[in-house]
Amino acid sequence: MNSINLRTGIPGPRSLALLARRQAAVPRGVSNVTPVFAARTEGATLTDVDGNVFLDFAAGIGVLNVGANHPEVVAAVHAQVDNYLHTCFHVTMYEPYVQLAEALNRLTPGDFPKKTVLFNSGAEAVENAVKLARRHTGRPTVLSFTHGYHGRTLMAMSLTARVSTYKYGFGPFAPEVFRVPACDPFRSPHASPGEAVRAALAEVRRTIAEEIGADKVAAMIIEPVQGEGGFIVQPPEFLVGLRALCDEYGIVFILDEIQTGFGRTGRMFAAEHAGIVPDLMLMAKSMSDGLPLSAVTGRAEILDAAQVGGLGGTFGGNPVACAAALRVIEVIRRDGFLERARTVGDRVLARFRGWVARYALVGDARGLGAMCAIEFVQDRATKEPAGPAAAEVLRRCYEHGVLLMKAGHHDSVIRFLAPLVVTDVQLDEGLEVMEDAIGAVSPATFDAAGTRPSASGG
Ligand code: PMP
Repeated sequence: MNSINLRTGIPGPRSLALLARRQAAVPRGVSNVTPVFAARTEGATLTDVDGNVFLDFAAGIGVLNVGANHPEVVAAVHAQVDNYLHTCFHVTMYEPYVQLAEALNRLTPGDFPKKTVLFNSGAEAVENAVKLARRHTGRPTVLSFTHGYHGRTLMAMSLTARVSTYKYGFGPFAPEVFRVPACDPFRSPHASPGEAVRAALAEVRRTIAEEIGADKVAAMIIEPVQGEGGFIVQPPEFLVGLRALCDEYGIVFILDEIQTGFGRTGRMFAAEHAGIVPDLMLMAKSMSDGLPLSAVTGRAEILDAAQVGGLGGTFGGNPVACAAALRVIEVIRRDGFLERARTVGDRVLARFRGWVARYALVGDARGLGAMCAIEFVQDRATKEPAGPAAAEVLRRCYEHGVLLMKAGHHDSVIRFLAPLVVTDVQLDEGLEVMEDAIGAVSPATFDAAGTRPSASGG
């Protein structure tokens, strides 16, 4: 049986009426991927206010790994709501905060004493990781990477690479931020992956030595799979090289696993694929199945560097969000979510690769576990990004019942972030909608031999 059930045109009349109110009451700077309003969610589906049922392959930007409204998470939230909503951990402490800190200290890679501090959003975790690294090292500078995304607050935005959407007109940015090259296997000018890694590492080393001074670098922050930047999987050798460089210079190595964490890539954390251990790990999104919560976990001596009162906030580590996260961690481990992420990823990536072979517009398919994407190009040889084609495919997808998001500096990437409870039947149904959309937009397909583009349409 199909999951998608569209009763009206998209958007339907109720969504349209709400959209008019939204335009009048909410600023345009808050972007919206689709023009529909939600009424309820369950598993991998979302029902809008007009009764239309969508397959949700966006999951609120990668937040719903265990599925929307997971019944056990909902039950844990209800139980906590009935006890207390808020005391503020600074005023009167509560056990769920400590329990979650203990759980994250155990769960994250690294066999050394760890501590955890909790916040509300990913951006806040980023801000505080930088504060801690600076306080611990007594150094000012932070390195971030091309295509990196870390959030919209001042330091997080300054660390973020893309200007057009996230930074334009919002300067001056935080000082002492340097950007160094990440690896981009799809667009690398180097002949071999090994060469690309060596070149990127050499450039990081050169920037530190020639432009900053090794004793001035407090921290380096990177996403193991760059999310907003276009689902660019960083080669394990590159991450290992960065880890070694941080060891050599006494730099705090911060892994931003806000989008990659909690099973998305087939491991609890993407770091595990490369076998690297960060000094500070940043978590949010799927940690709490939709409740606002983020964490900085890492070496106890770094977490303890800040003076009393230097960390925290009114809502950080809210007890309801902690209750949700504790249950999410239990469910991921008990119910085989890591294995499921791998099989979902294999199925999706196999289909995506088929589109690369068939449609001239689809230039690349890539991913790690169930964090997969396709990139649209205007030309296979030049790899010039095709943002408008991706936008048209996305529009056709939501009009036919599949919610998806774009990514990449040129908005030319479509990313797959479906809840991992998605069934194989739902996957195939959603992928079929995607394929129809690509076929309708594609000006050229490859012939059976897979070599020559023809302009016959797909
Ligand atoms: N880092 C990464 C890797 C992210 O993907 C995001 C959110 N997309 C953030 C930081 C910022 O998180 P938040 O939106 O919760 O502030």
